[in-house]
Amino acid sequence: MKERVYNFSPGPAVLPVPVLETVRDNLLNYQESGLGIMEMSHRGKLFEDILATADSNLRELLGISADYDILWTTGGATMQFSMVPMNLLTKGKTADYIITGEWASKAQAEAKKFGETHVAASTEDRKFSYIPSEFSFLEDPAYVHFTSNNTIHGTQFASEPAVGKRELVCDASSDFLHKQVNVEKYGLIYAGAQKNAGPAGITIVVIRKDLLQRSPQGLPILLDYNTYAKNSSLYNTIPSFNVYVVGEVFKWIKREGGLAEMERRNKEKAGLLYSALDASQFYRPNIEKNSRSLMNVTFRLPSEELEGKFVKEAESAGLNGLKGHRVAGGIRASIYNAFPKAGVEALVAFMKDFESKNG
Ligand code: PMP
Repeated sequence: MKERVYNFSPGPAVLPVPVLETVRDNLLNYQESGLGIMEMSHRGKLFEDILATADSNLRELLGISADYDILWTTGGATMQFSMVPMNLLTKGKTADYIITGEWASKAQAEAKKFGETHVAASTEDRKFSYIPSEFSFLEDPAYVHFTSNNTIHGTQFASEPAVGKRELVCDASSDFLHKQVNVEKYGLIYAGAQKNAGPAGITIVVIRKDLLQRSPQGLPILLDYNTYAKNSSLYNTIPSFNVYVVGEVFKWIKREGGLAEMERRNKEKAGLLYSALDASQFYRPNIEKNSRSLMNVTFRLPSEELEGKFVKEAESAGLNGLKGHRVAGGIRASIYNAFPKAGVEALVAFMKDFESKNG
């Protein structure tokens, strides 16, 4: 059998091995209940406990107060691109969007179907290679939407944009739980699980409860946040297996030392890679220094031909998933919470070797 490789995939992405082992052990007989984890009712006591524990662990990790609900939805972050404006873009109001990349643009395009939008900042002028520092927010927008980490381009907000009293809505799909954030600054945070939190198929929404009152009457039942809030996300059959795995990832983060430790590791790993890039004349980091992502490290080589060769040879060396997104090109190393430091060290060593042979 082939050994596990270092998996730099942008998502679905590498999961912690101890979590995978626990999941494997519970597939056939969950905690000796006689039932496999995928085979039990989502309304039974066993699953009820799994969901409640996942909720309380997430509350503890992120410091989520009772003013907020945690909702478990499907349809990925893309469905949130629609649900956010459907529920929060009150008639007659305009929503501010900060356009820092492909995903932010897609979120805005979806909002336009349901109301007015306004671009408070865009970094398209320099191919989304930086995070804006100036914004032209509306006086009283329905909300301000931003993407905390731009998976495709490799940029990341070091901290939330200062929006004053405006409601902040964040697509945190690719940096959820990578460090502590102050949830009180946000009206709503959403994140697809498949990068830092678990397998694809479940999306976590953290919403301040008073915002639930904004949803207009008559929304399709599963596109109304109230349906999830009123029914503990169990209006219909929740993807129970996914919730279970995400819950195990939360437990793993806690065991490893919580979000402070995740941040320490992420800074250390990204630091190793960026230092190697900065020290080289061959590799070309294409993101402004103060906008660099801790999650997705992007860079170019002197030619596309060399980039192709790099990806191919890296794969033969057990370093998988380094090809950049088709929109951005180049190389992208996704190094989420569960990605091991040893994998980053292996990549740095490979890069030095590749440069000495091709530089
Ligand atoms: N937002 C961001 C920041 C993403 O990285 C992605 C997926 N890579 C999406 C949204 C879309 O997520 P999904 O495929 O879960 O709809």
